[in-house]
Amino acid sequence: MDHSATTPVDEAVLEAMIPYYTSQYGNPSSAYSKGRAAKRAMEKAREQVAALINAQSREIFFTSGGTEADNQAIISYMISNSHRGRHMITSAIEHHAVLNTCEYLHKNGFELTVLPVTPTGMVEPDTLKQALKPETTLVSIMHANNEVGTIQPIKELAAIAHEAGAAFHTDAVQTVGKIPVDVKELGVDMLSASSHKLYGPKGVGCLFIKKGTQIGKLLHGGSQESKMRSGTENVPGIVGFGKAAELAQSRMSKHFAYLNELGKKLQNGIREKIPHTIITGDPDNRIPGHVSVCFEYVEGESILLMLDGYGIMASGGSACTSESLGPSHVLIAMGIPEETAYGSLRLTLGQDNSEEDVDYVLEVLPEIVNRLRTRSPIR
Ligand SMILES: *Cc1c(COP(=O)(O)O)cnc(C)c1O
Repeated sequence: MDHSATTPVDEAVLEAMIPYYTSQYGNPSSAYSKGRAAKRAMEKAREQVAALINAQSREIFFTSGGTEADNQAIISYMISNSHRGRHMITSAIEHHAVLNTCEYLHKNGFELTVLPVTPTGMVEPDTLKQALKPETTLVSIMHANNEVGTIQPIKELAAIAHEAGAAFHTDAVQTVGKIPVDVKELGVDMLSASSHKLYGPKGVGCLFIKKGTQIGKLLHGGSQESKMRSGTENVPGIVGFGKAAELAQSRMSKHFAYLNELGKKLQNGIREKIPHTIITGDPDNRIPGHVSVCFEYVEGESILLMLDGYGIMASGGSACTSESLGPSHVLIAMGIPEETAYGSLRLTLGQDNSEEDVDYVLEVLPEIVNRLRTRSPIR
């Protein structure tokens, strides 16, 4: 139940990838037939990924994942446009791939504004309006938050940025493949996605760059990816990402309904069975199957260890931050008191979860929280 951290590779995805490790191992830059076959497979994947987000295939640039896509969008865009202005805007609840990248530029002479969010984790359009300046060149706000599942009003936010002459990037790693994502409808200039969050392999993702956007490369070297991303392409990974995108598109409406129902059952069950539970994130605008709560008077890390003992994989918020012991920056930005934020738990459902899985968690979790609370010194 930790699909927001990563997902298993779908069988059909793995099957599509294997030939590109073995018989079709060519370098897409090679002129002979094995190279050309690899290139063709890569171009098919580009079309599959483009179709999932309603982009043109030449607007898709493959990267090593969501982190690299975020880095390229922010660093390369700010550098390529520094003659127009050196101010960027992001939000306090971004993934560290965005937040730390902005901080890095800030330490190197760029100006940064970090927007606050509402108690449900929303960036308010008016807050963005007030932060925009003539020197603002880029606004980067995530489509949905990985820790609390809140979906942002991207269409409205992008329009506000454009009115002020700034470009708009969104980290859509948590939405691509889960809910309909349409780059034209959203009106974004750049969008990051990652394969391993949608039943594809790890180590591959993409940056959508709208045609005409002025941006250079992040990695320098050869002329791969239309001179936008150097390095021999991860052909099997890219093929897998393409297949995963195609499957996600064909299964989207079915999975959306299924995960939405299952998520609601889990959330309501937790609320009914465990007193002093705070549901975090937005009640209406959230990723299907994303359940995020804080239990008062208990420490989240202990819940995770005990759940693991029962064979349940969950997260305290974000898998990427669990090594740093402080409370989640997302929950703190949403105004949740520090001692409550320490009791956070995130359960994110996926296509391989069943109703029985949910029943099992609802049987085990109340007991765990209860047991921990009776020995909690904070109470
Ligand atoms: C997982 C995640 C990333 C990082 O993607 P990788 O492919 O693992 O580098 C970035 N942003 C969000 C919101 C994520 O959930």
